[in-house]
Amino acid sequence: MEVFTEGALYRNTLENLESAAKLVNLNRNVLERLKFPRRTVVVSIPVRMDDNRVQIFPGYRVQHNQTLGPFKGGLRYHPHVNLSEVGALAALMTFKNSLMGLPLGGAKGGVQVDPATLSKSELEHLTRRFTTELGPFIGPDRDIPAPDVGTDSQIMAWMLDTYSMESGFSQTGVVTGKPVEIGGSRGRDSATGLGVVYIADRALQTLSRPLTEASFAIQGFGKVGMHAAIEAYALGARIKGVSDVSGALYREEGINIANLVRYVHENKVIAGFPEAEVITHDELLALDVDVLAPCALDGVIHEGNAETIRAKIIVEGANGPTDVHANEILFKKGCMVVPDILANGGGVVVSYFEWVQDIVWLFWTEEEVRSKLKEIMFRAFDQVWDFSQKNNKDMRSSAMATSLLRLEKAMKLRGQAW
Ligand code: NAD
Repeated sequence: MEVFTEGALYRNTLENLESAAKLVNLNRNVLERLKFPRRTVVVSIPVRMDDNRVQIFPGYRVQHNQTLGPFKGGLRYHPHVNLSEVGALAALMTFKNSLMGLPLGGAKGGVQVDPATLSKSELEHLTRRFTTELGPFIGPDRDIPAPDVGTDSQIMAWMLDTYSMESGFSQTGVVTGKPVEIGGSRGRDSATGLGVVYIADRALQTLSRPLTEASFAIQGFGKVGMHAAIEAYALGARIKGVSDVSGALYREEGINIANLVRYVHENKVIAGFPEAEVITHDELLALDVDVLAPCALDGVIHEGNAETIRAKIIVEGANGPTDVHANEILFKKGCMVVPDILANGGGVVVSYFEWVQDIVWLFWTEEEVRSKLKEIMFRAFDQVWDFSQKNNKDMRSSAMATSLLRLEKAMKLRGQAW
């Protein structure tokens, strides 16, 4: 299993799993089964490029655990995608889906490609061929992919179409995160960011600090970060800093997010936005704010910079942004780190809503989606908070422990561990 443990994110995930398992005295057989994935699919995807050359891209789907229901998790298109990273993200999906109380298992997939270097037609060919290769392993009641870094609703639409063509009839439930016109859910685009804000709100309540008076720094201005900024700004919070791959911006009185979103729609990146000061990526993470929301990459908060963090609360919009050493330092400093499996669970919750709507062919309004999402996010936060208060533990171990207890019960009932 070195193919998995060679990556830092996987080792980090294993460490978190093992320490939470100790905390709840988890059945040994349950722990052993959760350490490594149930099934791994590795494919090579040949694509005829626009210049007629055939190029091969490696693609992966890791199906970690399906005790609670069909496998579920996103697909990532990024040049650094590798089996170890996908494996860690698949395990995180198992823990997240369990924690959020969903009837779903955990999976993740990806293709090692820089989607920005492909033409639209190359991207479509890549996606359709990847879907064909994954065909025997996915399906509405088997494994349901969704967008992640570098993928979007258009890519999900091509997947749905390819899978449907090959099975002979329309199968809208094979993916989530697709456009509303072909069975997508209202509110899916903003779900993860909105969930981050609901969690920030609940965490701030534990400090008796209203969201309307709180300040935020948000790393990443993509599907998660931009929507977190929009939602927090709409509720009256002050967004003092934001960043993306092009740089970081700061404004003490708060950045006008509506203007920034308009700017990004025209210019693709935040660099050059005239209504804020330019700061470094490190300065953004160290801003004196109530809430820091890392919504870009994994491993950005580590032993080397954890001491510089001044935020009272970190809400992990991204997967794996804080490593185990930093987590410990921050806990000792009194900073609450709300972990990824809780903080960014809004995306998969609304993916679950989409899957349910596709099964019954009855679609909800955006207000219904938002209010059901809020209820689930608040309930999950409260369970984790209660555990952390009763056991004097950090929120990461508490979230993992809460998730593992549900998985343990289910695995025992199914006779998978005894
Ligand atoms: P995305 O590709 O839409 O956006 C990523 C953002 O990060 C972009 O704005 C990019 O410019 C920025 N970025 C890249 N490098 C950076 C750097 N060095 N410094 C600052 N910013 C940088 O991806 P996304 O869907 O928003 O996903 C972000 C994270 O959230 C990932 O870890 C992903 O796994 C996780 N996540 C996403 C969802 C979802 O619904 N999209 C759900 C759960 C978790």
